[in-house]
Amino acid sequence: VTVDLVVSDGTVVGPDGIFQASVAVDDGQIVSIGSGNLMPKAEKTISASGKLVLPGGIDPHVHFRDPGFEYKEDFYSGTMSAAFGGVTTIMDMPNTLPPVIDVESFQEKKRSVSQRSVVDFCLLAGVGPRTTRNVGPLAAAGAIYFKTLMGGYEPEKNVTEADMMSFGDGELLEVFKAVADTDRVVSIHAESQGLWRHFLAAMQSQGRNDVAAYALSRPSLVESAAVSKAILIAKEARCKLHVVHTSAKESVEMVLRARDRGQQVTFETCPHYLFFTAGELEPLGPTGLMNPPVRSEEDREALWKAIRNSDMDVVGTDHAPHSDEEKKRGLKSIWETAPGIVGVETLLPLMTTEALKGRITLQQLVRLTSQNAAQLFGIYPKKGAIAIGSDADFAIVDPKKSKVIRAEDLHSKSRSTPFIGWEVKGVPTTTILRGQVIVDDDGELVAKPGSGQFVHPSAGA
Ligand SMILES: [Zn+2]
Repeated sequence: VTVDLVVSDGTVVGPDGIFQASVAVDDGQIVSIGSGNLMPKAEKTISASGKLVLPGGIDPHVHFRDPGFEYKEDFYSGTMSAAFGGVTTIMDMPNTLPPVIDVESFQEKKRSVSQRSVVDFCLLAGVGPRTTRNVGPLAAAGAIYFKTLMGGYEPEKNVTEADMMSFGDGELLEVFKAVADTDRVVSIHAESQGLWRHFLAAMQSQGRNDVAAYALSRPSLVESAAVSKAILIAKEARCKLHVVHTSAKESVEMVLRARDRGQQVTFETCPHYLFFTAGELEPLGPTGLMNPPVRSEEDREALWKAIRNSDMDVVGTDHAPHSDEEKKRGLKSIWETAPGIVGVETLLPLMTTEALKGRITLQQLVRLTSQNAAQLFGIYPKKGAIAIGSDADFAIVDPKKSKVIRAEDLHSKSRSTPFIGWEVKGVPTTTILRGQVIVDDDGELVAKPGSGQFVHPSAGA
């Protein structure tokens, strides 16, 4: 028998260990892992000698803005950016236009973006008090997980998010109960509306219009108060709770305490919270603003500690592109800034660099950037593992090769990231999706738009 592909003689980071091996792929799936001389004949062989073979990255938190805001990003530019970063599966947030809040908008988005995707994709659905009845049908349609917003948004301005706002405590309870019935995970944008309004009013009444004031309008209490409340309400509702873009030390402590008591609470952080403090980002002006904002050294260290102890579940990016014009609005008025930065292309290189420095293990690297997300959201072991029967999704990385992140090399429509100029290792030399090379070793995208497939939870079972 001849198989489609053998990736030969790499350092394979599998779910249970790291070993020198070749990996044979047929029909998009891994069929054999072992020493080179035991591999079947292959149509194509890619040497991974001296290289790391990582499971393709899974970014559980991107905003590809498609449909509705294609001037910021679309599924082609977003997934292309993912492919160059070694990310082969993404989970896209529901605040597109129309917002993904019912089966009709879900199916329409799925149909539309699947024509442009070059990596595999999952879609979230948003839920708020007015749309709880849609949760069951959305789960059946394949929503990967749910998202609701506890605050930090203006109902009058943020119309795309209007049906995902659960600002009232009773509303949050009803939303959590609705998701509990489906056994899916519900994620929260954890900012307290009341406390945010309070601190924002204080900053604005002082006439503040500077970058530091933006962070002071959303101090860590705004996040941790929301996390605390959500944990209690999720316990009552018996739902699986997931805190996205965790930034504050107190949030980490509360998630871990709840987990110690046996509650299923998981959390994500993002590279910007791991690599910057507020003071370090300040010189970048509005470019460095996102919600929640980057915080203190103490917060950053608490996040790293959670990572080193293997408590942190996932590192996602909250990839949130805006047009340059939208970002520049913040130069005039900081309160008009479009919050968010891009990140899907730099996730794996940034985290791999830390693994190669010894700050985390390679095993932790693949859990944080691939395996855990697949397990948490129910697409494991189809995704997230280099194991027999899994999809053959790989990021092949040369651990000796370093590269400086340059704006002109990024593939998103936005280049707004604080990581420009950073030297990283772990930029993939080849990205493979279901056995097909999608970015080759000449640094060319060879995947066709539409080659990415929709992935949903029951596919992982
Ligand atoms: Zn987000």
